[in-house]
Amino acid sequence: MNILFRLLLTAFIALTIGSCKKTITVTKEAAHWEYENPNWQDIGYKQCGGNSQSPINVETAKVLTSGGLSGIEFDYAPFPLKIVDNGHTIQVNASNQESSILYNNTKYNFVQLHFHHASEHKINNSASQMELHCVHRDNAGNLLVLAYMIDEGAENELLEQALSHVPDEVNKERDFPSVQIDLASFQPANQAYYTYFGSLTTPPCSASVQFIIFKEHIQASRDQIEDFASHHHNNARPVQPLNNRIILEKL
Ligand SMILES: [Zn+2]
Repeated sequence: MNILFRLLLTAFIALTIGSCKKTITVTKEAAHWEYENPNWQDIGYKQCGGNSQSPINVETAKVLTSGGLSGIEFDYAPFPLKIVDNGHTIQVNASNQESSILYNNTKYNFVQLHFHHASEHKINNSASQMELHCVHRDNAGNLLVLAYMIDEGAENELLEQALSHVPDEVNKERDFPSVQIDLASFQPANQAYYTYFGSLTTPPCSASVQFIIFKEHIQASRDQIEDFASHHHNNARPVQPLNNRIILEKL
C-alpha cells in the first residue's frame, strides 16, 4: 500500500467514525419540537398523548365549587433577574430559594416563570392574549403552576422587565443583578381560582402538575403583547381533552 493511499484510508476511517459518533449524539438528544406540529407524542414524547394533559378549556358551568380548597400564602422576596430565551418562550429563573408559597400545608419553591402568546388555557372557549405561568416545586418534586390570564390593558411591570432584558442568544441565560423581580407585585386582588391536575404544556408533557388559574385576569399593554409576539408568536399548545377530570373552584 502506498503511503498516500494509507493516509487517505486513515482519514476516511476517522471521518466515518467521527460522523457515526455525531449521529449517536444527535439521536440521544431530545427531538426538536415546535408549536406548528403539536402532536408531540408522534415524535417520541409519549407522555404528550396521555389522558390528563394541559392546557384545557375551563367550562365554568361544569366546575365544582369547593369550600375545602386552601388559599395561597405567598412568601415572596425580590430576587435578581436571571433570564433566558429557550427558543420556545422567554423565561425568568429563580436565583435563590427564598421565594415560595404555602399551599395545602406544603411549601412550594418558586422555580421559574414564562409567558405564552396567546393564552394556553381557555375559559368557556375564550383565550386571553397571553398567559403567565409561575412554576413552583415542593421538596418531593411535585409541580404547582400558578397561571395568570393576561388581557390587553395597562402596562405590566414584570413583562417589561423581561422584554427589556431578552438575551440576543437563544438558550444562553443572562444575569442582571441590579434588576429585582418581585413576584408579589402582580398578584390579583381577588384570589379566587380554578384548579385541576394536568401536565407540563411542553415536552416531555410530564403529568401530575397542579394548575391554579386565577379567575381575575392581569393586564399588559398592546405594545408589550406585540413585543412579546415578535419574539414568540403563538407559543401556546392547543387545549387537551378533559376526559374524566374534575375542575374545582375556590370562590
Ligand atoms: Zn407554560
